Amino acid sequence: MTRCPDCGEPLLIYEMDGVETDHCIACGGTWLDAGELELVVEKAGVDPTPMVEALEGATLGGKGSRRCPRCRRKMFLTRLGPEDGVELDICAAGHGIWLDRGEMEQVASAFSEGAAGAVASYFEELYPTERREG
Ligand SMILES: [Zn+2]
Ligand SMILES: [Zn+2]
Repeated sequence: MTRCPDCGEPLLIYEMDGVETDHCIACGGTWLDAGELELVVEKAGVDPTPMVEALEGATLGGKGSRRCPRCRRKMFLTRLGPEDGVELDICAAGHGIWLDRGEMEQVASAFSEGAAGAVASYFEELYPTERREG
């Protein structure tokens, strides 16, 4: 079983249109394996190219406190997006990225205007059991 890097609850696997994500219903975070960011964004109807390029060229910041659910090593903080971008956790071994609740929408809107709504509604469809708070 894979545990949430943030709160330690079990991650649930959600599958839609051939895209699989690991999601924590306790804290609302999402783990995306390498290559899944591209798929999620594309399925949401947004051009993934600028995000994928930014992710490939992302420079790693300091080590964060969360561990990669695949290799259990501490992930690094990185910033994705124009200007300051959105801070997220990335596995230095290339296993994937961790996004807190709402960060995927922030990343999408940083790269493409109006994309946050598209990604948000995709996630609503993907995680129908999610308790929405506030
Ligand atoms: Zn969690
Ligand atoms: Zn890893």
